[in-house]
Amino acid sequence: HHLLALRSSMLSTSPEPSTHQPNPPRVPNLIGGSFVESQASSYIDVINPATQDVVSRVPLTTSDEFKAAVSAAKQAFPSWRNTPITTRQRVMLKFQELIRKNMDKLALNITTEQGKTLKDAHGDIFRGLEVVEHACGMATLQMGEYVPNVSNGVDTYSIREPLGVCAGICPFNFPAMIPLWMFPVAVTCGNTFVLKPSEKDPGASVMLAELAMEAGLPNGVLNIVHGTNDTVNAICDDDDIRAVSFVGSNTAGMHIYARAAAKGKRIQSNMGAKNHGLVLPDANIDATLNALLAAGFGAAGQRCMALSTVVFVGDAKSWEDKLVERAKALKVTGGTEPDADLGPVISKQAKERICRLIQYGVDDGAKLLLDGRDIVVPGYEKGNFVGPTILSGVTPDMECYKEEIFGPVLVCMQAESFDEAIAIINRNKYGNGAAIFTSSGAAARKFQMEIEAGQIGINVPIPVPLPFFSFTGNKASFAGDLNFYGKAGVDFFTQIKTVTQQWKDIPTSVSLAMPTSQ
Ligand code: NAD
Repeated sequence: HHLLALRSSMLSTSPEPSTHQPNPPRVPNLIGGSFVESQASSYIDVINPATQDVVSRVPLTTSDEFKAAVSAAKQAFPSWRNTPITTRQRVMLKFQELIRKNMDKLALNITTEQGKTLKDAHGDIFRGLEVVEHACGMATLQMGEYVPNVSNGVDTYSIREPLGVCAGICPFNFPAMIPLWMFPVAVTCGNTFVLKPSEKDPGASVMLAELAMEAGLPNGVLNIVHGTNDTVNAICDDDDIRAVSFVGSNTAGMHIYARAAAKGKRIQSNMGAKNHGLVLPDANIDATLNALLAAGFGAAGQRCMALSTVVFVGDAKSWEDKLVERAKALKVTGGTEPDADLGPVISKQAKERICRLIQYGVDDGAKLLLDGRDIVVPGYEKGNFVGPTILSGVTPDMECYKEEIFGPVLVCMQAESFDEAIAIINRNKYGNGAAIFTSSGAAARKFQMEIEAGQIGINVPIPVPLPFFSFTGNKASFAGDLNFYGKAGVDFFTQIKTVTQQWKDIPTSVSLAMPTSQ
């Protein structure tokens, strides 16, 4: 416990928009079971997006330190893979308990470094915690198959074995959930792991690793290296790393997919999105508007499953006014404020980019029904805030539609018919999620059958599957073939060995022909 206390005091979690820190703490790497300060010559500031205070400083890990982390993971592998599966599960059982106990501390760190509201930060942790809970049943999840007597006295069975050293590269928007999509599944399957958190909010990963160690994860099974492109490229190129899990933008994801595949690695790469909500006029108006607000503006629109585009069909377009009214009522402020609905976006650059895309929309002829660009938040004047913004009359050729905005901006389109709306959605290059709002079962079923997106919501705005399913983005939102968590996640982190055995005492004669079963 004192280790955690030490570490979390290093990672400033002050709820106050604290005053300037003269000497921000340095975020440690985790190598072979020790939290160590990097000898890096360059560090990046981790900045509280609501205040611009420097929370901590994150190193661009040196190449030697990176190699030491991989080597620690490699060394830890033989004994960890031979550790009984029940023991590995029990580490997860303890880990989930420790995460629950430290939920508030973790949430405060997330709000401080990432900006989302405390309540949303709890959700971030909880959705990751569910993956840890699922990993507690790993023995059942990784069971093999058996066919007796495939030939006389011969049986064949398959077993799932861990790969070795695996690595994970994380985005900024879910500092707890996404690391927890990765390493708990990997290590409970018997792999060892090297995690590269987002350089924008590395604190939660460090705290989670501390809890995992406290839960009994042996030294070297989980390692953390901080950094940016060079560290990522080192992961892609390293011959000792067998698999890479990535979540983030398409630019980084496709680069990593190509570079790591060139080294023969397995890759699962979850990337960008443009998720559409299709609204039919027969939908429940109140429930639908609330769902659109929550999914469009929650987490300041920085969720890969945010509904960033609404397609109103027919008369449903007249609901736009009500949507604007309700969006105006949302409270934009620092995430630690008890009444906050949405906090700041991650960085000054992110805010500039979002504002630029809004302006492109206006220039291209969209109507700006609600403009959150010039918002000033009392007490947080320096924060990167963007208020809820609604663009109407958007068409598929507009830049604000083609690009993922990743901010609190709802782009509204109109379709004359249900078929036209489906066609618009399917023409989009991304295929992460899509949701329909309707009271018609037939319409919902048609939507489910025809929409080319990996995750469909029927009156559910953010249909992120629980861990007994998998996260199943498709088209440009995913590269690889084995999705995150669920059965596919276990498949990703294991390889199959197929054993054919013969136990009989009858002497055989020599035959050089291909064995056939008879
Ligand atoms: P990002 O791609 O900028 O960063 C993700 C990671 O990649 C970071 O660890 C970063 O250090 C590294 N990285 C960035 N650029 C790189 C480069 N050129 N070469 C090597 N490494 C690089 O993404 P982000 O801004 O942190 O996250 C937001 C994006 O993530 C959005 O596009 C969002 O849709 C996506 N996302 C997708 C999912 C999903 O499950 N599909 C979930 C969350 C976020």
